[in-house]
Amino acid sequence: MAKALRCKHVGPDPDCQFVAQGETEEDILKQFTHHGTHAHNITDYPDELVQAALTKIEED
Ligand SMILES: [Zn+2]
Repeated sequence: MAKALRCKHVGPDPDCQFVAQGETEEDILKQFTHHGTHAHNITDYPDELVQAALTKIEED
């Protein structure tokens, strides 16, 4: 079962179409932080943001 995290559910841009997909939470977070850094200039990922992202991960 794959997992997915929609950037618009966590990130600063409600219109962002990016979806991180992977088998594990680590996979998803890696893609999400990579995307956030390059697409939204996010440089800091505090625990609150990581925890918020984890709660938004959906089973695909
Ligand atoms: Zn995004």
